[in-house]
Amino acid sequence: MQLHNKINREELKQKLAEETFRRKTISFYKYHYLDNPQEFRDSIYRDWFALNCFGRIYVAREGINAQMSVPEHLFESFLKTLDNYQILKEIPIKYAIEDDGKSFYKLTIKVRPKLVADGLDDGAYDVTNVGRHLSGEEFHNHVGKENTVVVDMRNFYESEIGHFEGAVCPQADTFREELEIVTDLLQNEKNKKILLYCTGGIRCEKASAYLKHHGFNDVNQLHGGVLEYARQIKSAKLDSKFIGKNFVFDDRLGESVNGQIISHCHQCGKPCDTHTNCANNSCHLLFIQCEECKAKYDGCCTPECAHEKAGTATAEHRHIFGNSRKYRKSLALVREEQLQQNTLPHQP
Ligand SMILES: [Zn+2]
Ligand SMILES: [Zn+2]
Repeated sequence: MQLHNKINREELKQKLAEETFRRKTISFYKYHYLDNPQEFRDSIYRDWFALNCFGRIYVAREGINAQMSVPEHLFESFLKTLDNYQILKEIPIKYAIEDDGKSFYKLTIKVRPKLVADGLDDGAYDVTNVGRHLSGEEFHNHVGKENTVVVDMRNFYESEIGHFEGAVCPQADTFREELEIVTDLLQNEKNKKILLYCTGGIRCEKASAYLKHHGFNDVNQLHGGVLEYARQIKSAKLDSKFIGKNFVFDDRLGESVNGQIISHCHQCGKPCDTHTNCANNSCHLLFIQCEECKAKYDGCCTPECAHEKAGTATAEHRHIFGNSRKYRKSLALVREEQLQQNTLPHQP
């Protein structure tokens, strides 16, 4: 039996469209040491391929992160396969809310060095010793209380357009940097209640373990991240303590959680929360640009880049890179990171 999909994309999408049964879209993740990730990967591939499951699943020595769709009539059989593996026994499963069952059209299971890149060696800290998981409502009730510190574990371009009230939002553009900065910033707060959050929860699994390893005593994390929080406060009719937009790489590049725009166009300063990459390919700066400036600068970050793109650059227009070193990151790279963290809702 082959352990990879070989059929082309169009054919697969066609097959999905013609299915006469329903699918459930689910997600789950767990940090748990695996001796042989490749063997585990091949084994679950066999199990889930046989049950006609689709999805995008990452396996590493440190655990598993999965988003998948399972045929409804085979769901019980799917649950039974989980009992075959220590790591999957009693794993908490999240069920997608707006579920058309068409999120995936094939089964992809990849072995990666890490679930979330932290730049640290395996065993540098115990990734399975995680903080306490708080539901959206529990987290909501703690935000703003005395002796608590809310920490945004996402990168700065994510927190720039949306974050919890009063949150510490470090100027980091990688998770690795983030861990170092946060540990540093909070070194005198080790006895306070720490409330961590990220997009879908998986970064906080790691961050909470890292902070506990560094002597923080009361580490808590938002289970399911801002995605889950937004759903829960909506159904509980609470006023959001998250202001602005949750940066997610769906078609709209995220959705405003409470309707506010808290960030600004990097060029004219008017309220705007839409990221783009500079259209000059030799620049490719990630930045925030409004529609007017997009038209004015032809999608570029500076007049210099617009000239370079148009092929009209002279010596005076010698390329000057954008105003922030930090923003030198392509949207494609950001998207790849979010894919790995499986925080994209319904990604085909
Ligand atoms: Zn503008
Ligand atoms: Zn540029």
